[in-house]
Amino acid sequence: MARPLPELLAQLDDFLAQTLSQIRSAESLDALETVRAESVGRTRGALNDFKRSLADVPGPDKPAFGARFNAVKTELEGALEERRIALAASKPARATLDLSMPARREWRGAKHPVTLVMEEVESIFRDLGFTIATGPEAEHEWYNFGALNFPPDHPAMDMHDTLYLEGGGLLRTHTSPVQIRTLQSYPPPIRIIAPGNAFRRDFFDASHAPMFAQIEGMAVDEGISFVDLKATLAHFANRFFGETATRFRPSFFPFTEPSAEMDVACRICGGSGCATCKQTGWVEILGCGMMHPAVLEAAGVDAERYSGWAFGMGPGRIALQRFGIPDIRIEYDSDIAFLEQFAQ
Ligand SMILES: [Zn+2]
Repeated sequence: MARPLPELLAQLDDFLAQTLSQIRSAESLDALETVRAESVGRTRGALNDFKRSLADVPGPDKPAFGARFNAVKTELEGALEERRIALAASKPARATLDLSMPARREWRGAKHPVTLVMEEVESIFRDLGFTIATGPEAEHEWYNFGALNFPPDHPAMDMHDTLYLEGGGLLRTHTSPVQIRTLQSYPPPIRIIAPGNAFRRDFFDASHAPMFAQIEGMAVDEGISFVDLKATLAHFANRFFGETATRFRPSFFPFTEPSAEMDVACRICGGSGCATCKQTGWVEILGCGMMHPAVLEAAGVDAERYSGWAFGMGPGRIALQRFGIPDIRIEYDSDIAFLEQFAQ
């Protein structure tokens, strides 16, 4: 059925005006896409209906209607593109320029309390002329036990205390192999601090862990005596803990003779006795002693000419003291809420 051209053109103009208004008021790219699909879209677009009505236009009027149809389509596509560019440009600007939005807190890493203790110990001994020395965590049995004067039947060598590796090696049970390796590589005088990890077949409980940090120190030279050991370690304790009383208790280690354990006055009770110091007023911080001549000889050092002292301490245990941490397992938990307290 033929339809008069003026009527069709009027409908086309209404459609154009209405769609242009929808395009201008589209507030998002999604809303604009809906307008596009419903106007010029190939499947749902209303413009398709006008295209079909071309068949109803009388022959002589077809060119005029066709020209108007194309002009409307071009105008709509231009308006859609213009609006799309405007919306795309304003979208990120809106997100980043919201000045009322609170700033995101910057996340900063921090050192673990055990690392803080180790670095402080290292720094005190470096001031005294000590050098940092390190060695492998997977060791030969000889470096871990034999060279350190452990008798072949020492209980520490038992399977229950040492983690043995396939092929005869082991995970070092202390950082003492570094002493032997250093003495083999450099002639005295030697002053070293050896920080690192040690491994034992211990159960995880409030005061033990199967892997733990250790710091050892060693001084070897002509004429080194127990006086040097006491004076150096007392100096260390005063720097690390603040002015403090120290005491040495006789002890036994295979690699030192004589051997001692050094205590400092309890920081919690000031020496009067509390639960932390088990009512003794003292807290043990390290083991030490004069190096056994057999250890010096095993490492190729002339024990008639040279003597030395050594000590070993557990920075994890010292961190418990220093920061008032009740359970050593917390040091292994990677709990951000706990660790954040030590951020400086
Ligand atoms: Zn106490």
